[in-house]
Amino acid sequence: MALRTLDSLGSLAGKRVIVRVDFNVPLKDGVITDDGRVRAALPTITALVGQGARVIAVSHLGRPDGAPDAKYSLAPVAERLAELLDAPVVFASDTVGASAQEVVAGLGDGQVAVLENLRFNAGETAKDDAVRGAFAAELAALGDVLVSDGFGVVHRKQASVYDLAELLPSAAGLLIEKEVDVLDRLTERPERPYAVVLGGSKVSDKLGVIEHLLPRVDKILVGGGMLFTFLAAQGHKVGKSLLEEDQLDTVRGYIATAAERGVELVLPVDAVMAAGFAADAAHVVAPADALEDTEFGASGMGLDIGPGTAKLFAAAIRDAKTVFWNGPMGVFEMAAFAAGTKDVAQALTEVDGLSVVGGGDSAAAVRQLGFDDEQFGHISTGGGASLEFLEGKKLPGLEILGWEA
Ligand code: ADP
Ligand code: MG
Repeated sequence: MALRTLDSLGSLAGKRVIVRVDFNVPLKDGVITDDGRVRAALPTITALVGQGARVIAVSHLGRPDGAPDAKYSLAPVAERLAELLDAPVVFASDTVGASAQEVVAGLGDGQVAVLENLRFNAGETAKDDAVRGAFAAELAALGDVLVSDGFGVVHRKQASVYDLAELLPSAAGLLIEKEVDVLDRLTERPERPYAVVLGGSKVSDKLGVIEHLLPRVDKILVGGGMLFTFLAAQGHKVGKSLLEEDQLDTVRGYIATAAERGVELVLPVDAVMAAGFAADAAHVVAPADALEDTEFGASGMGLDIGPGTAKLFAAAIRDAKTVFWNGPMGVFEMAAFAAGTKDVAQALTEVDGLSVVGGGDSAAAVRQLGFDDEQFGHISTGGGASLEFLEGKKLPGLEILGWEA
């Protein structure tokens, strides 16, 4: 069945519309450092305002412990939203309490409210269905319909993502509709060659993706922290680089499967080895089979792909018609180890076809390195969600909106 979209809800004029967005932005000392996710929510909010709906935006921010925690308040996000909409936004200092009820009761047609962080309530993420359901019921009492638009959380069975959609008439917002459309093209009908570039630091999380993608793609490029587990599986020494010893056999299996299926597994030919994990650490490029033969010996740490690898990856990416990239190639937060990520991002902008960047850090990296969102086919707001989608997993927050993987 297909995703229920906004138009399936009929006219929303005068209705109280709860919009589940993903306002989980990075904050530093109360200041938003990347407002990409607030911007991504604008099309739906603007469309609802345009229809004269009473818009009640709800979101999580960070991982507070099921209780109020000022550090994770959505107040700065409400302010930013008001600036971006160029319209007033009313902020409720709780999620389902007296403040929220008063704010919602006072909303006029076409006005916008933001309620305080959903995760200040233990019910939002509770494993117990009854506890989650009870919180969802409190939320449901505030609205007439639900528009679900927080793509970054659709892989979570949480009260506002899942249970609430059972209690109110519900549909996907424009962001989820767009994310699903693009990612579905990647899973169902990718133009070939189809290349997937993987990096980042959550190695064991991402190995599962490789297993699922092997039958579907033409090339897999491995960079970031996980490359060292691949090089070690080939018998190379990797010094103090990130290494998942217990995954070596699994990785050897992937290498064998890739060869059997004719999938091109592109592994690094060199890496940047550093004296330690620091922005000013001494560093040098070493060939993949001699990572410990530098001045740092066995205590060297691989913090980026090398220039030979970057060139190899860039060529493989430019050749492809469909590219999905998740996970920085190195520790891009430190300028000395950002070159590989920058070269890969540059190659994605040159793809003659569909290029997709997914993942919180990957999206932040391309913006930080000076690229524009428009240079890519799509920048997904969801890291975990987009990977689980590509893996073919059932995502509770989408299934409840009618989607079937
Ligand atoms: P995303 O959020 O895009 O899914 P991840 O969270 O998996 O990506 O990984 C991002 C992190 O991976 C970055 O903070 C980056 O510094 C780190 N990283 C990349 N390469 C390495 C490496 N070789 N060693 C250690 N950390 C790395
Ligand atoms: Mg991340």
